[in-house]
Amino acid sequence: MNSTFKTDVVIVGGGPGGAASAVFLAEKGLKAIIIEKEEFPRFHIGESMTGECGNMVRRLGLTEAMDNVPRTIKPGVIVYGQGGKNSFEIPVMRRNEAGELEQTFTWQVRRGEFDQMLLDKAQQDGTVILRGKAVKVLTDETGTPCGVQVRRDDGQLIDVLAEVVLDASGQTTFLSTQGITGEKERGNYDRQIAIYTHVKGAKRDEEDHTLIFYEKKNHWAWFIPLDDETVSIGVVTPSDYYRDTKEDMREFFLREIHKINPQLSVRVPDVSLVEEVRATSNYSYHIRRFTGKGFLCVGDAHRFIDPIFSFGLHFALTEGKLAADAIAGYLLDGVGQDQENPFAEYERYCELGMNTIQDVLDCFWEQPTAFAFFVHSRYVDDFIDLFAGRVYQEQPSRGLQAVRKVNAKQLGLQQPVLEPQPQH
Ligand SMILES: Cc1cc2nc3c(=O)[nH]c(=O)nc-3n(C[C@H](O)[C@H](O)[C@H](O)COP(=O)(O)OP(=O)(O)OC[C@H]3O[C@@H](n4cnc5c(N)ncnc54)[C@H](O)[C@@H]3O)c2cc1C
Repeated sequence: MNSTFKTDVVIVGGGPGGAASAVFLAEKGLKAIIIEKEEFPRFHIGESMTGECGNMVRRLGLTEAMDNVPRTIKPGVIVYGQGGKNSFEIPVMRRNEAGELEQTFTWQVRRGEFDQMLLDKAQQDGTVILRGKAVKVLTDETGTPCGVQVRRDDGQLIDVLAEVVLDASGQTTFLSTQGITGEKERGNYDRQIAIYTHVKGAKRDEEDHTLIFYEKKNHWAWFIPLDDETVSIGVVTPSDYYRDTKEDMREFFLREIHKINPQLSVRVPDVSLVEEVRATSNYSYHIRRFTGKGFLCVGDAHRFIDPIFSFGLHFALTEGKLAADAIAGYLLDGVGQDQENPFAEYERYCELGMNTIQDVLDCFWEQPTAFAFFVHSRYVDDFIDLFAGRVYQEQPSRGLQAVRKVNAKQLGLQQPVLEPQPQH
């Protein structure tokens, strides 16, 4: 007979999405159990935050705790064009109460320590962390998810029963593999590989911007300072390009960082690798119908588009807050109890933000010249907002409308008409 636990919400995955959801649920007085299969701290990629992601860290009450984890202050992102000749910078700015832009900063973090800190915060706030792997979703007689079965390292099986199952399992997309959500559809930036590690000895600028080096479509590199000594560097290319070199990952990485862009080469004349060289491939996907009676997904558990402009952590933390609000409305105030899908509005809102970033990325990759013109000449403020993560625009800004117009033209679709916008 399996042991059985009961709680309000069972969360699969103790990464940023799961831990943030738990913190926000605890604020509402709801109990959660997080199932996490890995021992923390563990290596994870995804180290540069957007401005609004930084605000979400502040909202989680972690401003002071950020001084105790390895991190750097990120004033913005600089994108170097092919050959390193041109560049544009997008500073991290927030909107003040008057709606004006003002300078702020966000962070770049080592995920091992950052994720541990977030999970510790969830635990301090009352969430139970259950070490083990979620192996099966449990359903009631109507087929509605009502818990998960967990396998511990010693083989013991535990049933965790809950009012709501929240999937924050990242790229393993637990509820999709269980057939609860829609299927995993390939994203626009599938069939690519990212090969990355941490280095010491890199030449640093005075300020610790996230640097992006563009070589050609879907072929680029990142440089993300993580602490006083360590920099995260990654190279992203089509998977076929990597395979054709017949190099191992380390050889490939060391050769590419000296070749991809002169602005990267000058920063890495002599670096030592302080982590193993790792790779992630085929990371771009989209799962639809990721909410329903008894379940919802946050972060990578339902969609990941492309890592170039660092939106992953932002979506994981923001959706953690949105999911907690939706669950609290449902369980405590009866919102949507009479509806077939009580979390439909949460799903619509998540897709609004992710679709915005999909459109921005499509424009960047397909029309880089138009994109650069929009960013540093035509719609500067709108793009500062987009890059900061202010992406839930019910009324698209003129910058976003321009992006959609260019994308539609590229696809030969009818072009959306630019609508007048109120000035900020
Ligand atoms: C190459 C690359 C570069 C990136 N760079 C950036 C960046 O610079 N900035 C940024 O913001 N984002 C970046 N991202 C994205 C970022 O890594 C993710 O979006 C982010 O980690 C998502 O958080 P999450 O909580 O949804 O998932 P995760 O952080 O992946 O957490 C999921 C957790 O669930 C656990 N888990 C999974 N399955 C189970 C199971 N069955 N049972 C129990 N536990 C389970 C895992 O062990 C893990 O701890 C990058 C992504 C890639 C691929």
